[in-house]
Amino acid sequence: MSMHPVLGHEGVRHALARAHRQGTLPSSLLLHGARGVGKQHLALWLARLLVCERPGEGPCETCAPCRMASSLEHPDIHWYFPLERPKNATGDRLVDALESARHEELDDFRHKPLRPSWWDEVRAIYLGSVVNIRARAHKHPTMAEGPVFIVGQAESLVPQEASQEAANALLKLLEEPPGNVRFILTSSEPGLLLPTIRSRTVPLHVGPVGHDVVRGFLETHTGVDRKVADWAATLAQGSPGRALAFLPDDGELGPLEALRRRAFELVMAATSTQASAGYEVAISFPPAGARRLIDLFSFTEEWLRDLGAVAAGADDQIFNRDALARLQKHVKAMQLSPVAIATSFAAVERARELARGNVNPQLVVSGLLRDLRRALGARPVLAAMSS
Ligand SMILES: [Zn+2]
Repeated sequence: MSMHPVLGHEGVRHALARAHRQGTLPSSLLLHGARGVGKQHLALWLARLLVCERPGEGPCETCAPCRMASSLEHPDIHWYFPLERPKNATGDRLVDALESARHEELDDFRHKPLRPSWWDEVRAIYLGSVVNIRARAHKHPTMAEGPVFIVGQAESLVPQEASQEAANALLKLLEEPPGNVRFILTSSEPGLLLPTIRSRTVPLHVGPVGHDVVRGFLETHTGVDRKVADWAATLAQGSPGRALAFLPDDGELGPLEALRRRAFELVMAATSTQASAGYEVAISFPPAGARRLIDLFSFTEEWLRDLGAVAAGADDQIFNRDALARLQKHVKAMQLSPVAIATSFAAVERARELARGNVNPQLVVSGLLRDLRRALGARPVLAAMSS
């Protein structure tokens, strides 16, 4: 097991260590911040701090509880996260199947601790996992003062069937935590959490990690060269988990890089003179799995922002630096104006709301294309000259 040290977040760690020393650490915390910045990693660090025999500015990392915790084997630290729904299991069998799936995943994690981070719509936190949490919360801790529960991507409790039930069961635990139970929830979409869960957890924002730290991490842990590490760190904007998702995997594009390119096609189609270009992009999406579009729309916004920057002559402000020449050419050919581009963001926001509601992705994308075309009013140079 080679769990790498927490990257960055020094300020948050300092505040947590001080609160722990002073006995003022809240029993239910919500670590929120961008996807992949290391919130669950930080939650595991805090869990180690809580069980450590000699805590200081952090867990000592050498006592027996620290060592057990860092190999994910501490009996009082329980890490929950979204899982795929086990097939052919209902009721009590589902509860057991989810627990075995979680243990398998933990075992995988011990062998392969570097996880790329992006939206994966097939996973969720099912009621069965909350039933497991509740049962464990009422048991006596084995060696620590109380059990520590980490619930990663806690917003995954919400957009699914039986969601209300799962969320309410967790809510009851947060409301009346038995004994010295501690909860550390993490979320990159705290707005999707039930307001009642939000109101019972103390929020703590986890910011981005410095560019050089992310680049160094990629170089050290993935073996990519400095140029690739720099490219992925730039696109990931301070998120080591997202940086990993940009890197090629087994000769294929990284999942986020694939999405970034599709977002580029989408923006190009929306500003193209051929209506059929948009249609082709829309039907190239599978008819289900809208939550994956959330990342796609973030990239769409980045591309639009870049087009806006180029249209305004601020080429040095762009995010997708590797595409500057194509953006310049496109802005010129389509006579895109910074004002029209600025009004197009509302269309992306509307599409994002629909994706969160799990609407058919083909419908969401074709609607977005239509709205973008309307907002951007793109026209090629020749047509403009002859009109
Ligand atoms: Zn320790």
